Amino acid sequence: MAKSTYHYLFGPVRSRRLGQSLGLDIVPMKTCTQNCLYCQLGKDAPLTLERKVYVPTDAVLAELRQRLDEGLSADYITLSGSGEPTLHSELGVIIDGIKKLTDIPAAVITNGTLLYQPDVRRDCARADVVLPSLDAGDEATFRRLNNPHPDLNFEVFIDGLCRFRDEYAGQIWLEVFFCRGINTDEDRIRNIARLVAKIRPDKVQLNTAARPTTHAEAMPVSPQELEQIAPKLHPQAEIIADFSRHQAPAASANLTGNTETILAMLRRHPCSLEDIGVGLSLSPDQVRPLLDTLLKTGQILSDTRSGTEFYKIP
Ligand code: SF4
Repeated sequence: MAKSTYHYLFGPVRSRRLGQSLGLDIVPMKTCTQNCLYCQLGKDAPLTLERKVYVPTDAVLAELRQRLDEGLSADYITLSGSGEPTLHSELGVIIDGIKKLTDIPAAVITNGTLLYQPDVRRDCARADVVLPSLDAGDEATFRRLNNPHPDLNFEVFIDGLCRFRDEYAGQIWLEVFFCRGINTDEDRIRNIARLVAKIRPDKVQLNTAARPTTHAEAMPVSPQELEQIAPKLHPQAEIIADFSRHQAPAASANLTGNTETILAMLRRHPCSLEDIGVGLSLSPDQVRPLLDTLLKTGQILSDTRSGTEFYKIP
C-alpha cells in the first residue's frame, strides 16, 4: 500500500455535519486559543492569540491541486484539523485559492473566539459554511469548559459571533458541546438559548463527548438527555453526536490504509475501527491487523467509551 505524501490534507473522511469532507490542516498540532475540557488533541497545550502563517499557504494549495488532479470526490473542503484555523493569518488567501481550484464548497470549523477581529470575519466570510462553537452562556462556564486564553473576553466573543452573523450571508452552523454537570443544568441551558437567539445561526447542532477526551471531567450526556435539551435551544436543533458508530460507507476514499495514514487520522482525534474503515474505504477485517500491529508496537492505545473501542495516540 502506498504511503500518503500529504502533509496538510486529511481524508476525505465521513463527517456527520459535512458528509465526505477533505480536511486542510493549516496550524500545527494543538495550536489553539482555548484548551477545552473535551478536546481530543491533548490537554494543557500553550494557548496563543497570535495570527501568523503557521504553515506555508502555497504548499497547502499545491497539495490540494495535486489531490484534485488525482481525482477527488468530496462534499466539502474543510479548514479544521489540529487546532484553530482562524489563527492562520492567510486563511482568506487559502479559501480564495480553494475557490480558484474547485467548485467543492469550503467550510471553516472554528471555535469562534477570534471573530471579534474584523480581519478574521473577512477571512471566514469567504467560505460557504462557517461552523463556530458556543458551549457556554456565561463567562464562568466559558472559562471552566473552554479554558480560553486569559486575554479573551466572553462578551467580546459573543459580540464577534453576532457581528459575523450581521455581515455574513453564508451558512452558520453553530455547535453546542455538552458535558454532564458542566453546562447541562436548566439555568445554563437557558443562558445558551438566549445567546443562540441573539446570534441567529442557520443551524444549531448539539454534540457531546462520544469519543474519549483527555480530561476525565468531560463526561458525555446521554442521547435521551440531548433529545430533551435540543428543543430548548432551538426548534430545529439537531443532534450530531455519534453514539451509534454505524456510518454509511465512504463514497470515495482514495487514500490507502497503511499504518501511516491511520496514525495521521489518530493524531487528529481518537477513532473507532469503523471510523478508520469508513475513512479509508477498508473493511474491519482489513483495518484490524493494522491496528494490532500499532498496538503491539506501542504507537497507539485503545480506550472504551459508551461501549465502543477507540484508538488514539499515547
Ligand atoms: S477549540 Fe477545538 S482544538 Fe481548541 S481546545 Fe477546543 S476542542 Fe481543542
